[in-house]
Amino acid sequence: IFPGSEDAAGQKATLGVLGGGQLGRMFVHAAQRLGYFTAVLEPDAQSPAGLVSHHHIQTGYDDPAGLAQLAQLCQAITTEFENVPAHTLQTLALTRPVAPGATVVGIAQNRIEEKAHFADCAAVSGVTCAPYTVIETPAQLQAVQAERKDLLPGILKTARMGYDGKGQVRVRTAAELEAAWAELGGVACVLEKMLPLTAECSVLVARGWDGQVVSYAPQRNVHVDGILAVTHAYEGSLPPALATRARDAAVSIAQHLGYVGVLCVEFFVVEDGSEHGGLVVNEMAPRPHNSGHYTLDACDASQFDLQVHAMAGLPLPEPRQHSPAIMLNLLGDVWFDANGQPHEPDWATVLSLPGTHLHLYRKLQARAGRKMGHLTITGPDVASVKTVARRAADLLG
Ligand code: ADP
Ligand code: MG
Repeated sequence: IFPGSEDAAGQKATLGVLGGGQLGRMFVHAAQRLGYFTAVLEPDAQSPAGLVSHHHIQTGYDDPAGLAQLAQLCQAITTEFENVPAHTLQTLALTRPVAPGATVVGIAQNRIEEKAHFADCAAVSGVTCAPYTVIETPAQLQAVQAERKDLLPGILKTARMGYDGKGQVRVRTAAELEAAWAELGGVACVLEKMLPLTAECSVLVARGWDGQVVSYAPQRNVHVDGILAVTHAYEGSLPPALATRARDAAVSIAQHLGYVGVLCVEFFVVEDGSEHGGLVVNEMAPRPHNSGHYTLDACDASQFDLQVHAMAGLPLPEPRQHSPAIMLNLLGDVWFDANGQPHEPDWATVLSLPGTHLHLYRKLQARAGRKMGHLTITGPDVASVKTVARRAADLLG
């Protein structure tokens, strides 16, 4: 689907996205830069992506009329919202190319299926996930309490709908495990062994309909309270051998899924000498990812460009990073001072620092923990990028 093309009904090439958040907004920007029209399906009237798209279909993700309108407007459709109902993607796929597809999104939505997929791939990817077990029934809970003490201390995570550290509880004892499962509502969960992490990293892979695969070098991620805070994207941010293993593993995971579009695979780096050989696969996101936002400013093709290329069937350029980069997430907390009073950060000073690239998502209300924007710092060398990033982080409190 080339930007200048029209379909049989004379409709100009239009790309659609389910979800109106910041990922949808940056996708829309990338699609429009290439000359596409865009359509966003999103229930919120004032969403970051809806505000910048040519078309905004303001309905729920399972509204048949809205989906029919999206399919009618668009020549290809993607999703930025991970928890879109599987049947929504299936319905759209009856008449339009949908990337990523319903099956792979379904796997990524459910930690139980996701881990089973990682286990399936382990022989090829060379990487396993943390030791874990599934808890779906009281009988399984009791069996775990009796027989899987090796998983404690651990983290109990709901199989579905968890993100940014939500839907998970850290447990040390069998009694805490029982209380945590009740606290999470007795829903399907996985109990995962707590690992001694030395770092976390992620890899972005893009795969086309024809099986062409490109990827970025792994980046190191720092989470605070379960939310991504900082991404370090430069040579030396991870040990080179480990980075190569992570990148190869992510590519094989995408290939094994027959994935189409941008996939992010997240890894734990654990203390050396462990049975895991230093690298453990954690989870995957079937879409561009917060840890890949630096690609907008530090690479010659961003993760959103690659999403557009992949879904439209255009060739995938091998992305090249031209500058070392550090990305700082801007959560709503930045808009409040130490006393909890609303305040506007000193943007003039932040933007006067060399190599700062500010991205704001136009969310109407700042709330603690809400992703409002990000700041990427690029520069000629790692040392100067680190210096500016430290200064910017200080200014942003
Ligand atoms: P989410 O879907 O919320 O991102 P994750 O499974 O990635 O859920 O967990 C959030 C964070 O919690 C991780 O980035 C990591 O810092 C920490 N964490 C999760 N699982 C483990 C584990 N098994 N051992 C140690 N830390 C973990
Ligand atoms: Mg995560």
